[in-house]
Amino acid sequence: MSDLTRPISELTASISEGRLKAVELVQQSLGAIKASGEFNAVLEVSPAALDRAKQVDAGKLTGRLAGIPFIAKDNFLTFETHTTASSNILKPFHAPYQSTAIDKLEAEGAILVAKANLDAFAHGSSTENSDFGPTRNPWDKDRVPGGSSGGSAAAVALGLASFALGTDTGGSIRLPASFCGVVGLKPTYGLVSRNGVIAMASSTDVIGPLTRTVEDAALVLDIMAGRDPLDATTIERGDNYSHLAGDLSGLKIGIIKEYMGEGIGEDVKANTLSIIDRLKSSGAHVEEVSLPSVELALACYYIIVPAEISSNLARYDGIKYGFSAPEAKTLAETYALTRDQGFGDEAKRRIMIGTYVLSSGYYDAYYKKAQQVRTLLIQEFEKAFQKYDLLVGPTSPTTAFKLGSKSHDPISMYLTDVMTVATNLVGNCAISIPSGKDSAGLPIGFQLIGPQKG
Ligand code: GLN
Repeated sequence: MSDLTRPISELTASISEGRLKAVELVQQSLGAIKASGEFNAVLEVSPAALDRAKQVDAGKLTGRLAGIPFIAKDNFLTFETHTTASSNILKPFHAPYQSTAIDKLEAEGAILVAKANLDAFAHGSSTENSDFGPTRNPWDKDRVPGGSSGGSAAAVALGLASFALGTDTGGSIRLPASFCGVVGLKPTYGLVSRNGVIAMASSTDVIGPLTRTVEDAALVLDIMAGRDPLDATTIERGDNYSHLAGDLSGLKIGIIKEYMGEGIGEDVKANTLSIIDRLKSSGAHVEEVSLPSVELALACYYIIVPAEISSNLARYDGIKYGFSAPEAKTLAETYALTRDQGFGDEAKRRIMIGTYVLSSGYYDAYYKKAQQVRTLLIQEFEKAFQKYDLLVGPTSPTTAFKLGSKSHDPISMYLTDVMTVATNLVGNCAISIPSGKDSAGLPIGFQLIGPQKG
């Protein structure tokens, strides 16, 4: 059995007591990555990993994660590898600086072993939008791992590293966590610095860990959280995230009614209800709560997010970063040919939708309206959290779907996000926890949503 399936606290204790060498652990990770090629979870291995492990074993590199191998989604800027966002337009790109989250983890001795596959620019729910081929689900190779952090979730499920980092703009940590049977934590907006993470939609992007246990997720969050002078949207952190309470008695929990209705798979519904029963028998007070605007969240998300994407992707012009169309003869041709050849269909679709909803004449009808609905959503969640400590429901209406089954139908792909996007529009924290399997043996995720919290 690989050590990489053991809890992080156990591994760091073994390493600090000399029972396990960091080099051995990193070698296990690199070996597992090599053997996992058919899943296409990993894009590039870091050439510096073994050297860093040697420093840990020599006592030169210490900290709360000393010697722990991790994998970052390839939209985190990292020094030792390319940073591609799984898009052809960034294929040759080497970052000139490194993201704050990676710096903080490395300062505690964690070892970046590889970069993970994703939907290009994190646009997607299945990792099929990657320009480097889809990642496959570790539980069934013919199915998707979820997205967009599908490579990160599959990597943790396959035991390629102790934890992985993902980004969640509309569910991209929680959905793949649910499809791959791992824990996925989306922190409150602003709690973890996004400095050095490739922007998708700046008003909803957050970064967070994918792990095997909730304790591991809390530990990684504890290290990454807090104000960063390089990201003006960051907030003050709370005291300590690694003290987890085991007692649920008296906790007030609301089941989001709109997440339990039409469209939810039978196995997912039965599993969710069984977890709710367990919460009740552990002493929590659980009842149904209606958040009517949640039904508008998906439509609202797919207006606001493309609007922000159309602005954020404008920087890829063939001059500043990565790929530049070699045959272009003029500046205008450089822009047009680079973007035409470098962006995939989904990025182009979102640039067009975003530009349309922001254009004069349509701005009021789409973008402004969506922002008004977003305000309603924020108010409804605020009201619910006056009464409840937590809101719960499934992470996704279904378990992992077949590769290719939705990739030609963007709307059905977008519907996969129906239970995750509201949290991003509001800025709350949420977590997906593996809660069982469906009749085909595929993992199901249970979602807990908390208020905005530093
Ligand atoms: N699936 C959603 C989308 O395509 C969410 C993506 C994300 O969270 N990065 O926009």
